[in-house]
Amino acid sequence: MRAHPRIWLGGCSLLLLSSLAITQLSPLLLPQVHETYEQSERAVQDGQYQMALALMKGTLYSDGVTIGIEGDHADRTAIVREAAQGWNQALEGDSPIRLVSMRENPQVIVKWVPQVPAEGSHTLGLIKMRKEFRWNTTRHEVGIKGTIYVATQPPGSPLSRSEQVDVVMHELGHLLGLDDCGDLGPLMGPLERGKPVGAPTANEVAAVTGLRRMVRDKLSLVNLQLSRQTTTAGRRQVPYEHRQTSPHDHGKIAVVESQAK
Ligand SMILES: [Zn+2]
Repeated sequence: MRAHPRIWLGGCSLLLLSSLAITQLSPLLLPQVHETYEQSERAVQDGQYQMALALMKGTLYSDGVTIGIEGDHADRTAIVREAAQGWNQALEGDSPIRLVSMRENPQVIVKWVPQVPAEGSHTLGLIKMRKEFRWNTTRHEVGIKGTIYVATQPPGSPLSRSEQVDVVMHELGHLLGLDDCGDLGPLMGPLERGKPVGAPTANEVAAVTGLRRMVRDKLSLVNLQLSRQTTTAGRRQVPYEHRQTSPHDHGKIAVVESQAK
């Protein structure tokens, strides 16, 4: 967020060479994503494979993440669809985001509200997410619940349609693992009113694809490891012994006139 800029070496314009094998997560990703990844690595080292699988699947959304629009409002559904398609195009078809109707009990709901429930009067959008990881020695489960808010009465004028697409894309960027960026220009930076970006930058795309590649590689290693283990567990469903939650909120803020200059 602009109020608390993160200092990255090279900022958001940090050059990532996607042609090189990526062995490190991008600094453009959320701190929670880094922590979860490191935790999953430790879990693998400790032989806690079910925990590792839960953490990795919750990052990758390997079963997809379903998004619904409050009231199944047609115009707003079209806005969210455009934002989701933008990401899917950028990720060359590898986006886990799936639009569903409210009847299908989506994991994430997009709501339009007069003001976004966040501190700061220039917040245009917000995502509130909660992931719950459960595991024991034989199985794992990931629970995902979230709400994306879009402001209908932000300071100044209401958001144009393309600004709304931009705000939803920004929030979906958080869902995919990206952090806010202090610079003007990138999708994950503040919105300069009247100048929606409408697409992630090459670096933002590289951060997400790099994350997905690294988590997938690790997932297949764990699955290979598990397939080699002799199954000693019976068919009985054992209750989960371990639980971990990771809530996080991230907003999209508008650039205040004086700051935009
Ligand atoms: Zn944000």
